[in-house]
Amino acid sequence: MKKAIVCGAGGFIGGHLVKRLKNEGFWVRGVDIKFPEYDETAADDFIQGDLRDLNLCHRAFDQNFDEVYQLAADMGGAGFVFTGENDAEIMHNSATINLNVLETCRQRNIKNIFYSSSACMYPEHNQMDPDNPLCSEDSAYPANPDSEYGWEKLFSERLYLAYGRNHGMNVRVGRYHNIFGTHGTWEGGREKAPAAFCRKIALAEDGGEIEMWGDGDQTRSFLYVDECVEGSIRLMRSEWEGPVNIGSEEMVSINDLAKMIMKIAGKNLSINHISGPLGVRGRNSDNKLILEMLGWAPSGSLENGLNKTYEWINNEVKIKYNPLRNDS
Ligand code: NAD
Repeated sequence: MKKAIVCGAGGFIGGHLVKRLKNEGFWVRGVDIKFPEYDETAADDFIQGDLRDLNLCHRAFDQNFDEVYQLAADMGGAGFVFTGENDAEIMHNSATINLNVLETCRQRNIKNIFYSSSACMYPEHNQMDPDNPLCSEDSAYPANPDSEYGWEKLFSERLYLAYGRNHGMNVRVGRYHNIFGTHGTWEGGREKAPAAFCRKIALAEDGGEIEMWGDGDQTRSFLYVDECVEGSIRLMRSEWEGPVNIGSEEMVSINDLAKMIMKIAGKNLSINHISGPLGVRGRNSDNKLILEMLGWAPSGSLENGLNKTYEWINNEVKIKYNPLRNDS
């Protein structure tokens, strides 16, 4: 039986990845500082511990694994990453995790390791035009990410690629672009835009109002988590050694994202634009390379993913904020 280890298995994407690997017949060990918040873990074995601690890494990587997925990071949406208040913590925590995990894998002679980078590592100056952002893999340098979160991702990408070159490890680097779906953080300050709007819209009365940071003309693309997992696994098992975008090419403005969710919810709400942390003006995945190298690229529609996500968050909101309400 093949064995996999998922670091960050208590998180959103890690939880989905564990389920997928279990469905494929793997024996899976999950590692995270916390258990999954909204679900039981599907892992065969789950170590709750801090990957900044090298001793914990030695305990987690106590045997050979066929596939290592390193998703653990200190992260969140714009409210966590772009205010500047968490910069030192983000850089220190995530870099320490990556240094520890990689070095432990090297010591154990574990060869196959996937690292989840982010589109936040792309240069700010290529993402000023909301209608025409440039995010092809080869546009990464000269580097100029707009957040320390992005700089840490860039450093860690290079760290993984250096271990690959110097220590004969098969490292794979996926650059995720705004992943969303069920069983992800939807409140508390670390949630990302799709989950935040699902929550706000679920909580609003029809005819009411929701708040949005900025004018809403900033653009993004959003990838449903199932396709993120599919792309990560395909990349892991491919021969391609460079970083690859794992994202959707269906770019929308944040205003249109909110309107799509309102339509799904059947609610007519006005948008109150307020100031807040924003990130770059435009961002979209460029899927030429993934299509060329893997013969596959994400193709699901945003609306389809939002339907599933809204249904799940709406239900979570009902359970938490109005447990006695039983309308559908
Ligand atoms: P998440 O926050 O749900 O998952 C990350 C997990 O890492 C959390 O469960 C957290 O507890 C764990 N973790 C943090 N510090 C730890 C530590 N010291 N020891 C052990 N575990 C620790 O986030 P996610 O959305 O599932 O993201 C997974 C990965 O993908 C992250 O590396 C993230 O940077 C990257 N990524 C995500 C997105 C996205 O849109 N969700 C976009 C780009 C990149």
